[in-house]
Amino acid sequence: MSDVQRRHEHFMQMALDQARAAWQMGEVPIGCVIVRDGEVLGVGHNKVERYGVTRHAEIVAIEAAIAHTGEKVLPGTTLYVTVEPCTMCIGAILLARIDVVVYGAAEPKTGACGSVYDMHDHPKQQHRVVVRSGVLAQECASLMQAFFAEARTGEVGHNVAATPPFTERRNTTTGTLHVVPTPIGNIEDITARALKVLRAADVLLCEDTRHTGQLLQRYGGIHARLVSNHEHNEAERAQTVLRFLADGNNVAMVSDAGMPAISDPGYRTIVACIQAGVNVEVLPGPSAFVTALVGSGLSAERVLFVGFPPQKKGRGHWLHDVLDGGRATVVMYESPYRVEALLADVAAIVGPQRRVCIARELSKVHEEYLRGTVADVAQAIAARGGLKGECVVIIDAAHVE
Ligand SMILES: [Zn+2]
Repeated sequence: MSDVQRRHEHFMQMALDQARAAWQMGEVPIGCVIVRDGEVLGVGHNKVERYGVTRHAEIVAIEAAIAHTGEKVLPGTTLYVTVEPCTMCIGAILLARIDVVVYGAAEPKTGACGSVYDMHDHPKQQHRVVVRSGVLAQECASLMQAFFAEARTGEVGHNVAATPPFTERRNTTTGTLHVVPTPIGNIEDITARALKVLRAADVLLCEDTRHTGQLLQRYGGIHARLVSNHEHNEAERAQTVLRFLADGNNVAMVSDAGMPAISDPGYRTIVACIQAGVNVEVLPGPSAFVTALVGSGLSAERVLFVGFPPQKKGRGHWLHDVLDGGRATVVMYESPYRVEALLADVAAIVGPQRRVCIARELSKVHEEYLRGTVADVAQAIAARGGLKGECVVIIDAAHVE
């Protein structure tokens, strides 16, 4: 065992002592210790206060450490807690500018360390929290399980939730990943089935947890833990996703808008699940490119969807490649700032008379389809001084007489 591990276990034992003290007082056994340079600055355990409100161990310990040091924030400290902190405590930990969180047992229903990882990963977040999990996990978990087992048989009776906080491991192998499309603009474009799946989810993989959190507030009744799963962490996150599933969690995945894995994150997660034998269930729903293709009036008989063109390197070669031969209707996404340049490039390859369509603001108030030849559409855009909103560009196949 390394010195670091030994130190972690030493302080986690102190946190466990706090947790046992809480139990003796009939409270949920969660304990917390805050340490800086080997010195304990504050300890705490769950406390039931007036009106039956529980003060969480982390909050109690943070307040004790602030009182002890006289400092308003606690940089350079490590917080040990026997169970993965909840969202509220994560907020307090971040505000206190604590550097490292070490927790024992994972609690998939209320635990929020995934969010801490998000903040840690997030380039805009200046304060970084390092999270270490699983220190004395067995001891921390069994203390909680024993407490709630006793609570259920009625030996401990006051202010105790009747349900155990740990999701029991189901023996039904590996579960299902639900892939759920979300609206591309109009909030009403969500299916009854999608809402049912989202409301049943324990864990929801999101491209951006804040964005999805705001979206889901509009529908209500969705209480899943939001876990970030974007292009920068998707590969590493796959193991976490499989662990959520193995622990019996109901896992769903969304992207910011539309169908996950279509010019959005999700592909790597789906592959990892298929490889691990997890059932992947995809709900049908909104996707900008299918919507735009149908609205374009161009043939959908043979279609090549290519996502976003490369911005710089290889752009010309890439365009030649996708438009080569003109055997299919080509659908791509483009930013409104580059769409005029794209049309110029397309005209140079297929000529100015090829029919195209640009669809933008789909399903929103200012939804619009610009249809015509490449030259017509380019002229129309130039005349109004550019476009706004993400564009779907549909380029007709070559029709040989
Ligand atoms: Zn808490």
